[in-house]
Amino acid sequence: MRFSEIIGNDALKASLVRMVRGNRLGHAILFTEENGGGAFAFALALAQYVNCREPGEEDACGVCSSCHKYRKLIHPDLHFVFPVSSGNALSESEKKAPISDYFLPAFKELALSNPYFTEQQLYEAIGIENKSGLINVHEARRIYEKLSLRAAEGLWKTMIVFLPEKMNLEAANKLLKLLEEPPQGTLFLLVSHNPERLLPTIRSRCQPIGLQPLTRAERRLVEGERPDDAEFREITRSILQAGLDKRIIDLFPQWEMLAELGREKQRDWCLYTENYLRKTLLVARGLDRLADLSQQEEASVRDFAAKIRPTFYERAFTALEETLSAIGSNVNPKLTFCDLCNRMLLAM
Ligand SMILES: [Zn+2]
Repeated sequence: MRFSEIIGNDALKASLVRMVRGNRLGHAILFTEENGGGAFAFALALAQYVNCREPGEEDACGVCSSCHKYRKLIHPDLHFVFPVSSGNALSESEKKAPISDYFLPAFKELALSNPYFTEQQLYEAIGIENKSGLINVHEARRIYEKLSLRAAEGLWKTMIVFLPEKMNLEAANKLLKLLEEPPQGTLFLLVSHNPERLLPTIRSRCQPIGLQPLTRAERRLVEGERPDDAEFREITRSILQAGLDKRIIDLFPQWEMLAELGREKQRDWCLYTENYLRKTLLVARGLDRLADLSQQEEASVRDFAAKIRPTFYERAFTALEETLSAIGSNVNPKLTFCDLCNRMLLAM
């Protein structure tokens, strides 16, 4: 992970790089973030940067042997610790003292596909979603063992601890000893959601770095489109186009499709369309920045914003609101959506 690949907190990227280049980076960093805010990505990028063979002034090179291994999360000096529990996939002896190493393949798969993962996504990925994760003393002993080895090839041994507040007291005390007398060439990167739950003595040993929550636009980039959005957009787009063309016949397939969606999805589609029209109206009024357009909707929203009459919107919003209440009160869905499509066409 390079800094340039991280979404959000741009100022922090530059300041971390300055800290490294100015030799002001401590041996332990405590990142704090809102759940899913990208601090894990920052920890990875920082670890990659300090170990890069040819670091640039803003980022790791991305192509040296160290960067190559970091990209795949297979660098021998990169270690992960995260809360675990006795998942079903473990052997009987492993269940007695579960540690992160037993879950590493699933963890790495998650981290590679979505470095903005939340606590719950982590538990789902490693198969312990119905249990509460913990970092226990066996884990703390394992950390000792790993860090007592010399760095295999990197400049720094990096230990990324996700949710250190999940350590029990025994584990926390062991980690505290490590932070007090860190093995040479060790960099601890802690990623916390609740730093106030850490031992104050641990907190005071770490350099605190708080991440700003992602903006709505950044969050959408991180999460990508919801599964139904493409389908919903296509229906909405077809209805608006049929309205502009005054072609009622083009509406038939749309209302039939909507009538068959099922109530939950029908409701979602109405809300999606309200939001789509709200964005179109904002763009039509020159308030593009507030419209917060995704890449996928940008072209069609701009096109409609240029063509739709201003009087359309209020009538369309009223029709959509009435459709939402009809969905809630068991009116025949074909009638409901036939009526909605007609009203949208007439309002154009
Ligand atoms: Zn490199």
